Amino acid sequence: MASLATRKQPFLSPAASVGLHPQVPDIKPSALVHFSCCAPALQRMFATTSRRLLKPGGWAALYAQDRLAQGAHCVGEYATDAMTQMRGQSQGGEMMHNADTTPAAVVAPVPSSAAPLGVVQTERGTQFVVGPSFYKPESTPSRDLAVLAARVHQQQTGAGLRVLDVMSGCGVRGARYLDQAGVDYVWANDAWDETHAPLVANLSAASGDPWGFQGPVDAWQIRQAATTYARASEEGGRAEAELAERQRSHLRATTTDGVREDPEGPEMVAGAARSMGGLGKDGALDSKDREGRFGKLRGYPVGSEVADDGTLHREHVLGGPTSIEDGHIGKGHARLSGDVSKSCTKTSPEGTESGRKPRWRVSHLEASKLLGSCNQNGDFYDIVDIDSFGSDSAFLGDALRAVRYGGMVYVTSTDGFALAGGHRPAATLAAYGSYARPVPFGNEMGLRILVGTMVREGALRDLLVRPLFSHFAPHGPVFRAMLRVDKLNKGDWGHDDFAFLGHCFVCGQTRKAAWKQLGNITCACAGPEHPPRPMAVVGPMWTGPLHCAAFVDAMVAESGRHSWAEGLAEGYGRRPAGERHRPKGNSVYPFRDLPDLLQLMQEETQPGLPPFFYKLDDIYKLGKASPVNKLELCAELRKAGFVVSRSQVSAGAIKTNASIADCIEAARVCHVAAQRKKDQKLAARQ
Ligand SMILES: [Zn+2]
Repeated sequence: MASLATRKQPFLSPAASVGLHPQVPDIKPSALVHFSCCAPALQRMFATTSRRLLKPGGWAALYAQDRLAQGAHCVGEYATDAMTQMRGQSQGGEMMHNADTTPAAVVAPVPSSAAPLGVVQTERGTQFVVGPSFYKPESTPSRDLAVLAARVHQQQTGAGLRVLDVMSGCGVRGARYLDQAGVDYVWANDAWDETHAPLVANLSAASGDPWGFQGPVDAWQIRQAATTYARASEEGGRAEAELAERQRSHLRATTTDGVREDPEGPEMVAGAARSMGGLGKDGALDSKDREGRFGKLRGYPVGSEVADDGTLHREHVLGGPTSIEDGHIGKGHARLSGDVSKSCTKTSPEGTESGRKPRWRVSHLEASKLLGSCNQNGDFYDIVDIDSFGSDSAFLGDALRAVRYGGMVYVTSTDGFALAGGHRPAATLAAYGSYARPVPFGNEMGLRILVGTMVREGALRDLLVRPLFSHFAPHGPVFRAMLRVDKLNKGDWGHDDFAFLGHCFVCGQTRKAAWKQLGNITCACAGPEHPPRPMAVVGPMWTGPLHCAAFVDAMVAESGRHSWAEGLAEGYGRRPAGERHRPKGNSVYPFRDLPDLLQLMQEETQPGLPPFFYKLDDIYKLGKASPVNKLELCAELRKAGFVVSRSQVSAGAIKTNASIADCIEAARVCHVAAQRKKDQKLAARQ
């Protein structure tokens, strides 16, 4: 029995350990979690906090203390239970007893490969697990739009689609492309290889592979069951096939209500492990054995999610694979050289051997390398979807290299501070080649800078790039644009719509300005006796339409054919009926349901609307007027002959070709009319 005192030290360095409580919110996952608590609390704390607090590959050290004086035996039992739980979620571990100070302790490494996949969730009817990755329900509308766009594109081209999902995360988007958009093939890539298990599970389930899930599952169960099954079918071993079948039914039994009642369960898992062989003491697959034994297996989530050793794995996490010099695509399987070959790719089980085309592939490559290798191999996609994080724009141009003519690119930026806030002009200039300043229409400017970057990057590559739709979501915030990419046959790439906006901070007027007008972008609000006032200039950016009217119409028609597209996504937008705003303390952002969002986009496709909006608050403030009903204001402007729409970017804004002075006047008319109505009502009552 190891002495606790000698083992305790390495795990309890104050810098690395985290004191914790189940109620503590938003602690960043740590490489080491130290539990020191009274015995009965041990299990509960472990269950409620370890998944949240422990980094994959980290360590959990549990010290149970007999504060309730229940005796060492009792404490030992609790510790054993906690260890069993831990083994369900991890591998390895050892138990130590120290009768002097702490009756029982469990120390267990939690290998990344065994990070729990968590409970099965649903988005718009597609099931998925998150694993060590993350999931944002707030992004549901952006995935809804992508699914609709893929369906429309499919109808228009009449062909099956191939999708390259460059930054997959847990893979819910890829799963929805397969499940709901009915695309032929999804290549899901995420540089972070911890996402391997959920990606494989989600794509596998979405494409109808036999190991779909029906309830709470974890990587361990999936891997064990699938490995045993695959090996059994490969080698025709009857006993193992039987074991696999039992295990499969056990999984099903376990997962329907999430309660493990079958006493044979753990035994079966152990049996599967034994029959596999090659499992080291710590539960990791021996690398040599894996090459020999598992290299033969096709398609099931085996082996590849287990890193060869901890060091290699960390390298993957930090820097990603470093080399794909002679990367090329083999038949059904990616064969990539160098570090990439280690464990980075996995294709769907249909493979080429059974004659069926594979429907998905999972890999863990750095985005630009993946996109570059696709281009090099002449492997082009109908949809390249990049759900990136931050303002890293290095791969925006690369995305265009992997899309086929007539295909679509779905790009993202989440750096509102730089893109829309105008607070980091130097960063925005470096990332997007555009100068942003704090202007009232900042979020629309952000979308336009993103689209403009893509249009210009396309021109650089002889590609004509045009937005099919653009979408802004306040959480994040997230700027997304779906763009069609065609060959540019020496035509105009759209430089007239790649221009500037000038804004007058005195009168609130905004206007589009062409390159030739640079140096002469002024406002006349000072009057004829004064020199014209210089406007603040932002850009260049895309000043053409943010959506393609015909395409959005087709998306609307398509949305009418699917029940999932009606209203809010389940488990999302938990708000009382009729209430737009986020209830206090609720982390779910208010958002428009899908029909609303599509309708707003349709409104914005009206010809004649300017590439910016006016904030209602600015109209009232500048006009020294009280707020009026937004729809009445729109109606008043229409009556005066202007084109008007609401804005999908901001609920507190309108888009119109009227000047700010016209808007102020219309607001005044509305206010007078409302006041008159009020007075008449009062008079009628008296
Ligand atoms: Zn002015």
